[in-house]
Amino acid sequence: MRGSIGGPRVMLRRLRELMAEPVSAQERLDKIVVTIASNMVAEVCSVYVLRDDGTLELFATEGLRPEAVHLTSLQLGEGLVGVIASDAKPLNLSNAQDHPAFAYRPETGEEHYQSFLGVPVLRGGQTLGVLVVQNRTPRTYNEEEVEALQTTAMVLAEMIAGGELEPLARSGGSLALRRPHHLAGLALAEGLGLGHAVLHEPRMVVTTLIAEDVHHELRRLNAALDSLRTSVEDLLERGEFARGGEHREILETFRMFAHDRGWAERMREAVMSGLTAEAAVERVQNDTRARMLRQTDPVIRERLHDLDDLANRLLRELVGWQIHPALGELPRDAIIIARNMGPAELLDYDRDRLRGLVLEEGAPTSHVTIVARALGIATLGQVEGILDLVRPGDPIILDGDSGEAHLRPPPDIERAYVDKVRFRARRQEQYARLRERPATTRDGTEISLFVNAGLLVDLPQVKEAGASGIGLFRTELQFLVAATFPRMREQQALYRDVLTAAGELPVTFRSLDIGGDKMLPYLRAAQEENPALGWRAIRMALDRPGLLRTQIRALLHAAAGRELRLMFPMIAEVEEFDRARELVERERRHLERFGHALPERVLLGAMIEVPSILWQLDELLDRCDFVSVGSNDLLQFLFASDRANTRLVNRFDPLAASSLRALRHIAGAARSRNVPVTLCGEMAGDPLSAMALIGLGYRAISMAPSAIGAVKQMVLSIELAPLEAMIESEIAGSCNLRNELLAFARTHGVEL
Ligand code: PEP
Ligand code: MG
Repeated sequence: MRGSIGGPRVMLRRLRELMAEPVSAQERLDKIVVTIASNMVAEVCSVYVLRDDGTLELFATEGLRPEAVHLTSLQLGEGLVGVIASDAKPLNLSNAQDHPAFAYRPETGEEHYQSFLGVPVLRGGQTLGVLVVQNRTPRTYNEEEVEALQTTAMVLAEMIAGGELEPLARSGGSLALRRPHHLAGLALAEGLGLGHAVLHEPRMVVTTLIAEDVHHELRRLNAALDSLRTSVEDLLERGEFARGGEHREILETFRMFAHDRGWAERMREAVMSGLTAEAAVERVQNDTRARMLRQTDPVIRERLHDLDDLANRLLRELVGWQIHPALGELPRDAIIIARNMGPAELLDYDRDRLRGLVLEEGAPTSHVTIVARALGIATLGQVEGILDLVRPGDPIILDGDSGEAHLRPPPDIERAYVDKVRFRARRQEQYARLRERPATTRDGTEISLFVNAGLLVDLPQVKEAGASGIGLFRTELQFLVAATFPRMREQQALYRDVLTAAGELPVTFRSLDIGGDKMLPYLRAAQEENPALGWRAIRMALDRPGLLRTQIRALLHAAAGRELRLMFPMIAEVEEFDRARELVERERRHLERFGHALPERVLLGAMIEVPSILWQLDELLDRCDFVSVGSNDLLQFLFASDRANTRLVNRFDPLAASSLRALRHIAGAARSRNVPVTLCGEMAGDPLSAMALIGLGYRAISMAPSAIGAVKQMVLSIELAPLEAMIESEIAGSCNLRNELLAFARTHGVEL
């Protein structure tokens, strides 16, 4: 390094000695700035630390006036130091005072210095402070010097994160590391969650920064890169990443970085400057994260996110750390924070300890959301940037009603939420009082409110919610939580428990709906370009009839002596329903031949969730005992809009006239053929949408148990005749009925 005495390695070695010295934090910091200044042949070296009030306080300096320490401060974005902190980017100037952002602080004596190099002190994408060197004469610092200063800034980041500097801050402040954050997202599953953060993919905390033996570290880095490449390729081959198209992104990322040798090279250079392999990965990752913060193009952000994931994997390779948080010790009030996850991953966690889920991505009808809702776990999606701000164990409040999260909440927010929890409890009591009341409109029409379920934990809620029964039992959830295919006996045991818990109430089972975003880790399936349109649900079941036959047999046994209601998902043409019915018939005959007890009656239904069947409705209805509309899939296919795609979440409205007309068409056809119809998609659990469905002719809807109370309250407050009349007149002319429905609710006193 030109202009430095010993090069970065010597500097890092000296810093390591300093870190071990038994001196006070201020003394250590003072010695650090002296070391950096002398090593970089700079006349000035200063450290600014970001406080929670958004000011950058001068914590130590060599070269500026010592009186300025803990006195001088700049706002974020103010002066050169403030700009570096807010942009999370170095600033390298041969004449600092010419820069438009230069802010003169007379107490520092800074005016004598012309050249200026400042770098952000970063940790996990968060700016914690700024490290500056200055020289009297105009000069530009070369690239190696910038790199060396960034590497040194990591040592400071460790000191700040370790809490050592906290007591030094000028009175009344604490450091930005612990700053409270208010984050806005999208409410996915209602409820309030008060608890402590658990990172679904824990970030490695690198504590040994400085290498003992650079060549050894280089070998470790190379070996970890090799095994990272192999493990990513293995994953791709095993198809584990087929879920949600994720494999494609990883593949693209992998390709991109396999070709762009820059990533590996930059990490190798960081090792050569004296860092451990882990610290080198983090050093380069810091740059990626800082770029991510500044990047507004969503596609590039996504790529940078992928690179960040890859760096996390590399860190895990280096440390050989494979522990999944779901398998470790969870706090009693865990709030899981993740970029995204599949439904099976959520089910890995101990339900009793889960208080909430916060996703950086996430969509209202994706399966992880549905599972969270079924489990009654408050969930937020699209909380951008939370992973960069949160530390494991941080207190966090999430509001699944308003869509907000409060990270490290200040006491007044905490108090407000304690009140809110009390208020909710009162509202729940109010709903509980409605439990025994039938859901009847003011003009006397009874609406059946069913629950969607899929796990044993759901069962007590059927009765607690005062539901009319189970309108959709998602049998695939048992398969998703299992490590291998559940045997027939295990399936039968679950179905029997479900029927027993439901007692007299009807239960509608749905045959296995796997594929799409519900991949079973133990099922080897080919990679698909479009899994939602792929080999899934009834398609898979008819091609591998062994699976469906076993399930049918388990159901027939479990429902012996009572009614069995079974429906098939994703029926796209009537022939699929005929073949599925034939399988049931054959199994029934088989059991009969061997003298097994059979259900008193078997009712077979189809889910209406593929648009093609809308034009074969009469033929389908003639064959079915009942039908159920899967509005999640139906709307996804009607609008050609991936239900799990974060960017499309607010693009199409279920209350658009196009979707309401399709839903009205189904309800009308079923009524004219006298076939019972329900709707079991997520819109049934939203009081406003449920009101629209009732106005369209639906008399039975099925939803998450937690939604029953609010929907029942709505039903009790509506008058059907004017609602139907309003919808009938508006649906003909409007493009979207949301506003009309809201206005109707307001003027007619409907409780939403
Ligand atoms: C639906 O598609 O609306 C539905 C109820 O089924 P799932 O959400 O499980 O696909
Ligand atoms: Mg569906």
